[in-house]
Amino acid sequence: SPDSHQTSSSLRNDDGSPVHGLSESIVGVLGGGQLGRMLCQAASKMAIKVMVLDPSENCPASALAYDHMVGSFDDSATVQEFAKRCGVLTVEIEHVDVATLERLEQQGVDCEPRASTIRIIQDKYLQKVHFSQHAIPLPEFMEIDDLEGAKRAGDLFGYPLMIKSKRLAYDGRGNAVAKSEEELPSAVSALGGFGRGLYVEKWAPFVKELAVIVARGRDNSILCYPVVETIHKENICHIVKAPADVPWKIRKLANDVAYKAISSLEGAGVFAVELFLTKDGQILLNEVAPRPHNSGHHTIESCYTSQFEQHLRAVVGLPLGDPSMKTPAAIMYNLLGEDEGEPGFKMAHQLIARALEIPGATVHWYDKPEMRKQRKMGHITLVGPSMGVVEARLNSMLKEEVSENQ
Ligand code: ATP
Ligand code: MG
Ligand code: MG
Repeated sequence: SPDSHQTSSSLRNDDGSPVHGLSESIVGVLGGGQLGRMLCQAASKMAIKVMVLDPSENCPASALAYDHMVGSFDDSATVQEFAKRCGVLTVEIEHVDVATLERLEQQGVDCEPRASTIRIIQDKYLQKVHFSQHAIPLPEFMEIDDLEGAKRAGDLFGYPLMIKSKRLAYDGRGNAVAKSEEELPSAVSALGGFGRGLYVEKWAPFVKELAVIVARGRDNSILCYPVVETIHKENICHIVKAPADVPWKIRKLANDVAYKAISSLEGAGVFAVELFLTKDGQILLNEVAPRPHNSGHHTIESCYTSQFEQHLRAVVGLPLGDPSMKTPAAIMYNLLGEDEGEPGFKMAHQLIARALEIPGATVHWYDKPEMRKQRKMGHITLVGPSMGVVEARLNSMLKEEVSENQ
């Protein structure tokens, strides 16, 4: 029968859709930064081919990718060309040409998660509108078009007032705080003015920031990773503690909010849900990322299935893996650039040398071509038998560095 000629690459599901599988179709990733790099590392263990699209010749994913197309993920012709070479498209950054993804989807190209999801998330204001329409709790927010509007928002929400760019935000670049009405003009101009598209958020008086990685398979199954605590330094994620030290009730609430938020979006993959925990035990959503996320890096060492393996499983159509922790506790420490150029590299290398002496520590270096202040250059994950032990290990790693420098 003709069926006997079928190879694994032409197997069909009962509904006629192709069975995605190992070593057959290429997963195309828009973006080749550290997230793309760690996707490539996970892919290599599973015989999945990952191809990345990134404008930088020596982007972090380049050396580990099955193939690297040099070009912009924000350019229509380039994205179309890239799509021709891939079986499924996904993203490691949300600032991509979404109109092209929508057109490609109409032509039958498989985008996971869906272009509709990327469109909602890449505009933070649209994202807030979407989640408030789905009854997800979040800080009050309001679009602002001019100084009068900003003042009205300040009267309404009080100060400090958080002003945010709608688009192209990451690592806090795109956020400015006005502590009083007098500071509104300078905060607005720090973000490039009203022309950039701005909105404001009421200040969230959080006691902790939490995050949940949520995975959705192609079969719509949804699994949540354990709730973690994220600690930011100048708006940049710095330390992640897994699991978060919060009461069971709070973990449950955080999970419920994250689950509900992701249920309102379309497509397969892992998603990160950033949350605020307030003093009175409320959980508010900050933002969602439609991809692997800094708050999930610890999963490489601490969970049965890392967020990167999970993302590949999800977009390729394999069953989701177990998201639970296989170590009692983990801390992820970001290696943020402390200085430009060579001095910055030297400081990072000193800390890495310290880490290599700490039991349960694993070093990840992203191989970025340039060292810059506050740039995410790598991370260190520490695991151990309890959070107390892991915290002590982190402290000894950092303390030794300080004494060395004195
Ligand atoms: P990311 O790198 O996570 O994408 P981003 O540039 O999108 O960051 P946000 O997540 O909007 O920035 O904000 C960065 C940090 O600023 C938050 O993690 C939180 O610490 C603080 N922050 C954001 N919004 C508020 C708010 N409404 N009230 C108080 N603090 C806030
Ligand atoms: Mg963001
Ligand atoms: Mg954020």
